[in-house]
Amino acid sequence: MTNDDGRRMPFRHSRFVILSSFVIRASSFLIFFPSMFPAGSRAGDNLGILGANPRWSVLEKYQGTITHDDFSRLIPNVYCTHGFAPDLIEINEKTARILMNRESQKFFTLRFAEDDTTRKPVPRLWRPAKTLPPAKADKPLVGLKIALDPGHLGGKWAKMEERWFQVDSSQPVQEGDLTLRVARLLAPRLRELGAKVSFIRNRNEPITAKRPDDFRELARKILIKNGVPQPRADVLDPNDPAKEQTIRWQSQILFYRYSEIRRRAALVNFKLHPDLVLCLHFNAEGWGDANNPTLTDTNHLHVLVNGSYLAEELEFDDERFEMIRRVLSRVYDEELPLADTIAVAIAHTTGLPPYQYPTTNSTTKVSKDVFARIQAGDYEGMRNVNGVERKSIFREYADSVADGLVQYYSKARCSRDR
Ligand SMILES: [Zn+2]
Repeated sequence: MTNDDGRRMPFRHSRFVILSSFVIRASSFLIFFPSMFPAGSRAGDNLGILGANPRWSVLEKYQGTITHDDFSRLIPNVYCTHGFAPDLIEINEKTARILMNRESQKFFTLRFAEDDTTRKPVPRLWRPAKTLPPAKADKPLVGLKIALDPGHLGGKWAKMEERWFQVDSSQPVQEGDLTLRVARLLAPRLRELGAKVSFIRNRNEPITAKRPDDFRELARKILIKNGVPQPRADVLDPNDPAKEQTIRWQSQILFYRYSEIRRRAALVNFKLHPDLVLCLHFNAEGWGDANNPTLTDTNHLHVLVNGSYLAEELEFDDERFEMIRRVLSRVYDEELPLADTIAVAIAHTTGLPPYQYPTTNSTTKVSKDVFARIQAGDYEGMRNVNGVERKSIFREYADSVADGLVQYYSKARCSRDR
């Protein structure tokens, strides 16, 4: 519900954030600093929080798969739009030199393909629409492996993860429960269309086995490193802005954001191997006091795709490695047109206006209309909400995502231009 979890490439169009990405990234948040010594790390490692040492040798498989022109276009225009330190990536005529580790001055050399006719096929574990066999009109998603990622945890964790608010004595709004509801409506629709659907989370519980207490020591080290020499153990007042400097708050965020998202990414990348991951969110921010929230008339939708890494994110060896791997697996060629098609389908169904994602933490309050529709819950058919006949907000979300997928795959997998 806040925009920090989806602060990726701005892509117009938000009420929901659908991160249509093929690898879930644990996006950096709040604290930037070199490795906090995860198990087995070495001196000079420079990793994101709870990050793993990158296996650069994996990139050998991508030698000769991308041309100089494509690489030189994707790096500045899609992935590194905020710039980066000059020693991180050096693009030459036939090769690119990518920094593996600054302290040891190790570099990875990527060799470009001469041209498009001689370039080698791109190795990958997910299948672009074009490589899927043609499908019958009523089963446009046949064989497609889709993983659904209902954002956040919900349930008893909703307050801790600050995805909870309540108006007077109404039903509390918990983003993790809303997203799971949408996923459960979406899954049977996608299966009817032929897709193989798996859930990254199918209950209001974390998939990480860790809990906040497991991160108390790491939280303390992080705070000390960030200039809080003697961090307090606990939050005294939940509205106190200094709560972020407590061990409790830091250990909680290490649990529900970093550990949980990294576990989800591992599940996707090492076990499920889907062709597509849909990360479902209901975005809103800054409603003030969670027990007395401020509602608003404005509402919008946006879809996010991976890109636009910050210069400070690219300083981390693991983040840089993942970014380069995404460039080389040519994810963007698939996720941009797919996200675009889904965004148009959602805009069409919901009538929501396009939206420029804020680059600062500007305030987006909870919409009055959305609040009324969430309170109305799920129902079949149409119902009058604030004077307009609408489907339930959950069905509208699920249906419009399914519509977008149908449109994209019907068109993309039938065309035989490659
Ligand atoms: Zn969210």
